[in-house]
Amino acid sequence: MIDTNANVLLIYTGGTIGMVENTESGALEPFNFSHLRSNMPEIKRLNFNVETYLFDPPIDSSDVSISIWQQMVKVIETNYLKYDGFVILHGTDTMAYTASALSFMLENLNKPVILTGSQLPIGKMRTDGKENLITALEIAADKDETGRPIVPELCIYMQKLLMRGNRTTKVNADHFSAFNSPNYPYLAEAGLDIRYNKTAILRQNEDRPVCFNYELDRYMVVLKLFPGISREVVRAHLTIPGLRGVVLETYGSGNSPINPWFMEMIRDAVDRGIVVVNVTQCLYGSVVMHRYENGQRLERVGVIGGYDITTEAALAKLMALFGKGYQPDEVKELMYQSLRGEITVRS
Ligand code: ASP
Repeated sequence: MIDTNANVLLIYTGGTIGMVENTESGALEPFNFSHLRSNMPEIKRLNFNVETYLFDPPIDSSDVSISIWQQMVKVIETNYLKYDGFVILHGTDTMAYTASALSFMLENLNKPVILTGSQLPIGKMRTDGKENLITALEIAADKDETGRPIVPELCIYMQKLLMRGNRTTKVNADHFSAFNSPNYPYLAEAGLDIRYNKTAILRQNEDRPVCFNYELDRYMVVLKLFPGISREVVRAHLTIPGLRGVVLETYGSGNSPINPWFMEMIRDAVDRGIVVVNVTQCLYGSVVMHRYENGQRLERVGVIGGYDITTEAALAKLMALFGKGYQPDEVKELMYQSLRGEITVRS
């Protein structure tokens, strides 16, 4: 039910949705928000209040950084009490990373924060941006019979689908359906109505106050395995000065080569207090390290199983936990727990 007294803050960070074509080079470049507003008279016709906050300058999301995530959190914190929900317009390229990071930076969230964008600029006839934006705004304003927000989560809305943000990954560079949530059900599907999947929606502990975590530790690396990977490459990753966390992208259900030099380097990293998290390169399914001998070896040297977490969420979770000042043993413990619905923990 749309609350006609609702106030939604629309935060424009950049991305294709507001870009225009450079007449000389033909490349799409960020443009200012007045372009978006003039192309979206529909916003004025919504039956609730929408106010806007603009990032200046707007960015291509390939330029997103920890400091830009911190700015996004700051805008939400500053305006948290004043608004019922937030919509962040963001480029699709790194939207899944931003969704994962913000999900850990915003703790005990009790209002919707919806990221959306588009694959075609809003001024193009065939743009996907209008529907994405209008529906995201409606979801941000939606309340249940008791007046509580229906989706008090950090989500991505694209192409009729509402997804938990830290479960998403960008799967298509061309199609309007750019995102998928391979290991978790959609939170809502928009057809004639918006149909919410209420049992899938996370309600964090409502007795606890919302908390804004700004510190992220940047000393992380993603090491993607491939057949023929050399010891120099593995060593270069694992000996980065100050390194604290590694997202190890393995094969299938969490397998890696077991040759002695590889296992020795991983063991050495773990012994130096680096947290190594095993995430599968597969889009669907989960890490089960004890299934094969090759996975068991990793488990024995102290690698943490990431279950069905995405690379984006594993990275963000490590950044956030070390950023909060946890010690490696505490981080390992917490990597096994679902903090924001980012993993499916099987008992
Ligand atoms: N390069 C753009 C960005 O991520 C693509 C998009 O908006 O979809 O900012």
